[in-house]
Amino acid sequence: MTDIQLQIFSPVHQIQHPLFDETGLKVFIKRDDLIHPIISGNKWRKLKYVLIKARTEGKNHLVTFGGAYSNHLLATAAAAAKFGFKSTGIVRGEEVSNDTLFLCKLHGMQLIFADRESYRDKQPLFQKHFGNDDDAFFIDEGGASTEAAQGCSELVTELPQTYHHIFCACGTGTTAAGIINGINTAKLSTTFNAIPVFKNGDFIRDEIDKYLLSPTEYQLHTNYHFGGYGKTTPELISFIKTFVAETGILIEPVYTGKMLYAILDLARKGHFATGSNILAIHSGGIWGLLGMKDKFTL
Ligand SMILES: *Cc1c(COP(=O)(O)O)cnc(C)c1O
Repeated sequence: MTDIQLQIFSPVHQIQHPLFDETGLKVFIKRDDLIHPIISGNKWRKLKYVLIKARTEGKNHLVTFGGAYSNHLLATAAAAAKFGFKSTGIVRGEEVSNDTLFLCKLHGMQLIFADRESYRDKQPLFQKHFGNDDDAFFIDEGGASTEAAQGCSELVTELPQTYHHIFCACGTGTTAAGIINGINTAKLSTTFNAIPVFKNGDFIRDEIDKYLLSPTEYQLHTNYHFGGYGKTTPELISFIKTFVAETGILIEPVYTGKMLYAILDLARKGHFATGSNILAIHSGGIWGLLGMKDKFTL
């Protein structure tokens, strides 16, 4: 047994919307954002087996990578603090301070800023700083790994019913791959729908397929990036404002806002058969809102 565990609290709530009534859809959201205030959403699922591996190997220092607004960095900082690891975050770009990095430091994470050139190759960077540190444990940017996909697949075992569709926002694609593996293991007929948050998101197919345990069909909707990673439009911001005010569920512009916008847009366009049950995964990340306050005029 290991001490590395969290009691999972991630209820499924139905989302009420006139459009769903008109189109005969039942739309639900799995509240992975409620798992932990900071180690939230898919980030806990992605870290779980990575941390267990570090513990098993006797490594006490987590070293990982991310941009200055990375939810993964922040989740790693909080998980390290909770489970008794040291942590270092190697941050892309020149030294800055913001709310995310403030929270990382508050949880005891040491930060090293790396210029974009050296940031590109993670292993040499790790070697340079921690090559002689037997205690240091490498965790890739965004936490992408087989262990991360394994952790995400467990989400499927918690579902209270079978859905026709499951939707999730994709960065590295690891969470998507894990959920698809979980759907296959449980022998469900559910169609998985991936919403890449990057421009030209077709590349994510290779990233997802890398972690699939068996080849599987799924749907990739590449038109909901709103200009690219971390980009927004007034339309997305206005959608988020309305959604939060009408449901009481916090979402943000980088991931979950784009995914929920996609579901409503596809519903409006008649993409789903009447009577379909649709599950959106709330993958957390609401601290990302703090970096985007200036996009909102409230
Ligand atoms: C990191 C993150 C994702 C992307 O997860 P991947 O496994 O990298 O695809 C999605 N949603 C939120 C809120 C995130 O923080």
